[in-house]
Amino acid sequence: MGQVPRSIHPCQSCGACCASFRVAFHWWQAEPGGVPLALTQDLDPQNKVMKGTERKHRPRCVALSGEIGISVSCAIYENRPTPCRRFTASYENGVREPRCDEARLRHGLKPLTKSDFKEPAELINSAADL
Ligand code: SF4
Ligand code: SF4
Repeated sequence: MGQVPRSIHPCQSCGACCASFRVAFHWWQAEPGGVPLALTQDLDPQNKVMKGTERKHRPRCVALSGEIGISVSCAIYENRPTPCRRFTASYENGVREPRCDEARLRHGLKPLTKSDFKEPAELINSAADL
């Protein structure tokens, strides 16, 4: 789950990427002031993973609350590790993001489109142009 700056952001009703991929990061990102150590486990001497994402079968980060595809949130949003910060939703920045699409498809959700990032007023104007 990348940036969630809007009140109605597609990520808030998704969460698929938090339950699809291993989230690994360098150990220094874990406490103090970073990812809570208790929510991580060792991957190797240099790296940690978010607990739950190391599983090959049905991975799901322990920090993810809610129901995927309905309503979700990250319990450590302000302190999430870099892979989460860098993960961008498809078309959030105007371009398709294959990993976002892959995660959503894994959970039976359609890939996002440009219209998922239009403000309501833009959608009304688009409809009026038809
Ligand atoms: S899979 Fe894409 S839309 Fe879903 S939470 Fe992750 S970045 Fe957001
Ligand atoms: S730390 Fe938060 S954003 Fe990152 S995978 Fe876990 S729930 Fe998702």
